[in-house]
Amino acid sequence: MTQRKTGIFWFKNDLRLHDNPALMRANALVDELLCVYIVDNHWHSHSSYSLHQRGQHPHRFLRASLTELDNSLGNVGQGLMIVESRTVSALSALIEQVGATDVFRSNNSGWYENQAWAELLGSNVGVNFHSIDTHTLFEPTSLPFSIAELPSSFTKFKNAMAETSPLRPIATPYYLVPPPSLNYPGFEYDSHTDSDALICGGESRGLNHLRDYFSTEKPMFYKQVRNAIDGWDNSCKLSPWLASGCLSVREVMSTLSDYEANVAANESTYWIYFELLWREYFQWYAHKYGRRLFLFDGIKRQKPLTSFYHERFKKWLSGTTPYPLVNACMNELRETGYLSNRGRQIVASCLVHELSIDWRYGAAYFEQVLIDYDVASNWGNWQYLAGVGADARSTRQFNLEKQAQQFDPHGRYTERWKGNAKSQRLDSVDAADWPVG
Ligand code: FAD
Repeated sequence: MTQRKTGIFWFKNDLRLHDNPALMRANALVDELLCVYIVDNHWHSHSSYSLHQRGQHPHRFLRASLTELDNSLGNVGQGLMIVESRTVSALSALIEQVGATDVFRSNNSGWYENQAWAELLGSNVGVNFHSIDTHTLFEPTSLPFSIAELPSSFTKFKNAMAETSPLRPIATPYYLVPPPSLNYPGFEYDSHTDSDALICGGESRGLNHLRDYFSTEKPMFYKQVRNAIDGWDNSCKLSPWLASGCLSVREVMSTLSDYEANVAANESTYWIYFELLWREYFQWYAHKYGRRLFLFDGIKRQKPLTSFYHERFKKWLSGTTPYPLVNACMNELRETGYLSNRGRQIVASCLVHELSIDWRYGAAYFEQVLIDYDVASNWGNWQYLAGVGADARSTRQFNLEKQAQQFDPHGRYTERWKGNAKSQRLDSVDAADWPVG
C-alpha cells in the first residue's frame, strides 16, 4: 500500500490561483494539502532603522488579497489558514501536526524567506521540500547563464535575454485536493476590506485591472508618458498586484503579447516588456547577492559618503525639507502607499545626495509604506540610486530644480500634495552646534 501524502503549501508572494505552477505541483503530488499564510512581523527591517511595522496601506492591500484568496480556495474545495507567528516555528509545528510528507512554496528572492526555508530543510529530514518559480518571467534553467554569472548591468542582462522567450502562464485549477483535518488555532485575521480604494488587493482586482488597461489605447502611448510624476493612466499601475503575486508576471506578458499580435505593437508596447525586464533583473540580482542587497556598501563594496542625521531624516519622512517637490512626493507616498517611478527616484536622490543620509534608511521606509513593496525591486533600485548597485556610473544625483521644471512645470502636483506647506531649512543647528538664526 502506498503511503498517503500530505502537503503544506506556504503562500507568500503568490497570492493567486491563476498561473501558479507551485500550487499545481502540490495538487498533483499529494492527497491532501494544507494551505497556509504566515504573518511574520519579525522579518521586516524597520526595527533596525527606528521605523514601525508595515504601514496601513500595504496592510489594507494584504488583507484584501488574503480574503479573496481564502474565498477562491473555498471555491475549489480548499481554504486558507492564516497564522501569526515566527515562520519557522509555525511551519515546523504544522509539519508535525499534519505529518507532512511534502512542503511547497514559490521561489522567493527574499533573504529572510530563504533563511527560513533553509532552516526548515535542515530540521525536517525526511520531508520533501519543493520551491518553484512563480514570481518571474523565466526560470533559472531558461536563463542563458547561471545565477552566479548574472550580468553586472541591466543592459548586458537585456542583451543576453534577447533570444529567450518568457514562460507561458498555465491554467487555473478547477479543484484542489482537500485539506487534512487539523486542530490548530488559526489567527483571527480582520477580513474587512476597503473595496472603494483605487488600488485594492486581490487576484480578481489585479486581473481586472490588467484587462482594463489592455482594452484601451494606453499601452500604445506608454513610453511617452511613463515618466510623468503624476497621473493614474500614465503607467500600468500593475506593481501592487505583481509584488504580492495576486497577478502573475507571465500572465501580464501573455496579455501584452496578445495586444501586440491583435491590436498594436510599437516602441511603447515593447517598453512595457523592457520595464518588466528591469523587474526580472532585480529578482535574479537579489537571488545572486542575498544578504549583500541590504549592506551599506552594496554589491560594489564601496561605502558611500553618507551617514545618519536624525533631524534630516525626520524632515524627509514628514515632507518638511527645503525641497517642495520632494515634500509633495513624500506626502503622496505617506498618504496613498504609492509613488510614481519618477517620484521615487527624486526622493531617493534627495535622501542620498542632498541630505547625505545612509540609503538603507530610505529603503527601509519604502519597505514600510509601499503598497507594491517587493524586496528585490526596492532594495535593488535603492542600491542603484545610491551608487552601490548595478550601475557603472558612480552617482545618480538628480538636479531637483530641473526635475521640478521638467516634471511639474506649473507646480500643480506640488500644490496638490502640499509640498510648500511646511518646507523648512535643512538643519536647525550649524556644524559647530550653534542654532541657526
Ligand atoms: P510601470 O511603469 O507601468 O511598469 C510596469 C511594471 O514594470 C511595474 O509594475 C513593475 O513591475 C516593473 N518596473 C517598472 N520599473 C521598474 C524598476 N525600476 N524596477 C523594477 N521593476 C520595475 N517597484 C516595485 O514593484 N516594488 C518596489 O518595492 C519598488 N521600489 C522602488 C524603489 C525605488 C527607489 C525606485 C526608484 C523604484 C522602485 N520600484 C519598485 C520600481 C518602480 O518605481 C515601480 O515598479 C513602478 O513605479 C510601479 O508603477 P507601475 O506599475 O505603474 O509601473
